[in-house]
Parts: sequence; C-alpha cells; structure tokens
Amino acid sequence: MSQCPFCSATIPEGQVSCPRCHLALGRCEECGSHAAVALVVLKANISYIVRRRERTFEGFACLRCLNRLFGRFESQTLLGTWWGAVGLFKGPVFLVLNVIEYVPALIRLLRQRGRAGA
Ligand SMILES: [Zn+2]
Ligand SMILES: [Zn+2]
Repeated sequence: MSQCPFCSATIPEGQVSCPRCHLALGRCEECGSHAAVALVVLKANISYIVRRRERTFEGFACLRCLNRLFGRFESQTLLGTWWGAVGLFKGPVFLVLNVIEYVPALIRLLRQRGRAGA
C-alpha cells in the first residue's frame, strides 16, 4: 500500500492511480516527463470514402499533453469524420466521449496544481 501524494488517500496495492482523486504521480505517456498525470481515454475517427482510421490514446497524460491531445483528437474528428457512413455515427459519439474524459481530468489536474502552488 502507498499514499497518494496529492490527497493523502491510501492507494491499494496494484492500483495505478488514486481511488479518491484519480491522479497519479508518474510518467506522462505522451511527453515522458514526470509529473502529476491523469488517466484518460481519447478517441479520434478519420473517415475516407471507403476506409476509416480510428486512433485511441489510452494512458496517463500531464496537464499540458492532456490539452494538446484533446485539441488534436477533437479537431481531427471534427474535420475528418463526415466522409464515411460509419464516421457519421461514430464521430459525434467520440466528440462527446472525449469531452466527458477530458473535463474531469482537466479539473483534477488544475486543482492539484493549485494546491501545489505552482
Ligand atoms: Zn489522491
Ligand atoms: Zn506530457
């Protein structure tokens, strides 16, 4: 067992992030820096006339990368999803799901940063 560096909650053995604040002190999987990170799942869909490309980011991201990834995935989907039948249905779902993933993670990371006084 270990203690959460942000809210002092007890983190059970084998758990990767804090069960209370859902943050972890670890390595950002996007930029590799050690920082407060949040676990997020972001999805993008880019449709072509006959093909489709789906991208997923699933992992820990720091505040800066969270913003960058969210912006990239949302804009790729917004621009690219409408050119295929599946994308027409999947695109809007991904756009909403990304917001649902992004907003709580952003709030948690901002709150943590505020506490740290950085
Ligand atoms: Zn915590
Ligand atoms: Zn990062």
